[in-house]
Amino acid sequence: MSEPIKEITALSELGEFALIERLTANIPHYHKSTIKGVGDDAAVLQYGDKCQVITTDMLMEGIHFNLVYTPMKHLGYKAAIANFSDVYAMNALPRQLVVSIAVSQKFSVQALDEFYGGLRHACEEYEVDLVGGDTSSSMTGFAISITVIGEADKEKVTYRSTAKETDLICVTGDLGAAYLGLQVLERENKIFFDSKGGQPRLDNYNYVLQRQLKPEARKEIIDFFAKNDVVPTSMIDISDGLSSELLHICKQSDAGCSLYQQRIPIHEQTKEVASEFGMEPLICALNGGEDYELLFTVPLDKYTIIASRSDIAIIGHITHKSEGCNFVTELGQQIPLVAQGWSAYNE
Ligand code: ADP
Ligand code: MG
Repeated sequence: MSEPIKEITALSELGEFALIERLTANIPHYHKSTIKGVGDDAAVLQYGDKCQVITTDMLMEGIHFNLVYTPMKHLGYKAAIANFSDVYAMNALPRQLVVSIAVSQKFSVQALDEFYGGLRHACEEYEVDLVGGDTSSSMTGFAISITVIGEADKEKVTYRSTAKETDLICVTGDLGAAYLGLQVLERENKIFFDSKGGQPRLDNYNYVLQRQLKPEARKEIIDFFAKNDVVPTSMIDISDGLSSELLHICKQSDAGCSLYQQRIPIHEQTKEVASEFGMEPLICALNGGEDYELLFTVPLDKYTIIASRSDIAIIGHITHKSEGCNFVTELGQQIPLVAQGWSAYNE
């Protein structure tokens, strides 16, 4: 007798976030030491007075990076930075890193030396100990999995779910540049192949290229919080775009928000390159990925200390849930905030 046909759902019907929710629904915890499991930038564990945070990220050749224009050294650096950024997003400091790689025959020993050169450099810059990993062969290219462990005081760990009505919404640095850096690299890559070897034109794109190829994580902001007794009410790092991350904070905090167009920080070169590509800089800032900036909320009484920093922009405030999540244009129009989302997974 043949089995009845079970219903099959395509992955594309769910999308990344719904898939994670489905796979991880109602996972039980057996240990008191597990303070926070799935659902934030990192899990939080408590042993003694200190908390540990743990985050992991997987990068696949052809999905997350293209080795035609990504030097192995930069790839190693960036892979570490993406994880450090998730640790900082918990208001914690990264301490140890483990890295696993799967490599196909097309790679040389020297290429892997380069990758480790970048990884080691990131660990040196951010004072993180590389303490282990795993090595495998691969049929289809290069795969990287990095896990980072960080440390924090329990009362300072900052979650996505604890933003409060009237809190100020703040963001570090500027947004959208890494996405445009990727557009430049993709364009030059295409020209190179179409013209069978024409040289890429990459001058005048330094800032956006550096933001794509050699991003940094916002360690200095966590140091600033510690020195000034600021504990954000919520925090997340921006890897999928401002809109998407702000909606995560609002959803998990059961709150609404008003985000102001004229407050969103965009670098001059980002504006220039966006217009060259016929794109709206604002759309790149809202939905572009891989900025690795920190998005956080603080109570109103922290206004003066936050406003004293030129590398933090106050871009809106948290509202009651009933008001919804809104984007306020320069002309004062209020429109619902939506996440168009940048996701390597959906490409
Ligand atoms: P980030 O962009 O900050 O790295 P993600 O969107 O990747 O965050 O993950 C959100 C949450 O879901 C995290 O807590 C992460 O640990 C968890 N998560 C993601 N994928 C899986 C999975 N396959 N199984 C269990 N947990 C997962
Ligand atoms: Mg994150």
